[in-house]
Amino acid sequence: MIVDYHMHLRDPGERLDFRVEAVERFVEQARARGVDEIGFTEHVYYFEQTRSLWDRPYQLERCKYDLDEYCNAVVEAKRQGLPVKLGLEVDYVPGRERETHDLLDPYPWDFLLGSVHWIEGHSVDGAPDHGLWAHFTVEEVWRRYFIALRGAARSGLFDVLSHPDLVKIFGMRPAPDEVLLHHEETADAIEAARGLAVEVSTAGLRKPVGEIYPDRKLLEACRARGIPITTASDAHLPEDVGRDLDDSVDYARAAGYETVTVFDGRKARQEPLG
Ligand SMILES: [Zn+2]
Ligand SMILES: [Zn+2]
Repeated sequence: MIVDYHMHLRDPGERLDFRVEAVERFVEQARARGVDEIGFTEHVYYFEQTRSLWDRPYQLERCKYDLDEYCNAVVEAKRQGLPVKLGLEVDYVPGRERETHDLLDPYPWDFLLGSVHWIEGHSVDGAPDHGLWAHFTVEEVWRRYFIALRGAARSGLFDVLSHPDLVKIFGMRPAPDEVLLHHEETADAIEAARGLAVEVSTAGLRKPVGEIYPDRKLLEACRARGIPITTASDAHLPEDVGRDLDDSVDYARAAGYETVTVFDGRKARQEPLG
């Protein structure tokens, strides 16, 4: 089985489009690329219902869409028999765990992605000379990123950690022994969160680093601890659904994986990979 469990429900001009027709475009591309099932995971900060979580202009300017409309489009497509799942890409906000849980609890999610894109208001993935990178050394950016990611793992809010080493996006990294320590500590935290999966994402191939997330060593550390995986493109356009997913399957196999996680109503099961 091949799943693509991370994509943003947009029209071909990348505008948010919460209609069944928009879902159908993604399904069509998935079929063309041999993907069996796709999961929609729009960014949590696009919705007015989550406004109270945000304090940055980037998020406050965006949280104007209706979460019910988004959910209804995917649920209706599902009801029509399309192979789609309902998810959301949720920024982990330390200290706001209860509020995040209560805001999202009423909706019929199949799975929730946990992401770290900002730390204390500074972006990780905006630009190599902005956000965290403008404030801290590479070593310190990495340290803070993985502390936040381990917090997301321990929060119990999420089913999958998305793009687990996003911090490598610009190709800047500490010395290998320091990187290895971050990998090991993070894999330990994910293992302790029992059942939490990590995402093998081909989005990194389209970024300056030109690598799949996570690093092969981090994925092997996860495999050694029995941590399950999903595969994902992080498509923001219908044409990117399933992009390079064959590479992610080969990559996971090379790390020792034979199964992939399939979600239904936040219950996980393992299916043969590929
Ligand atoms: Zn993301
Ligand atoms: Zn995303």
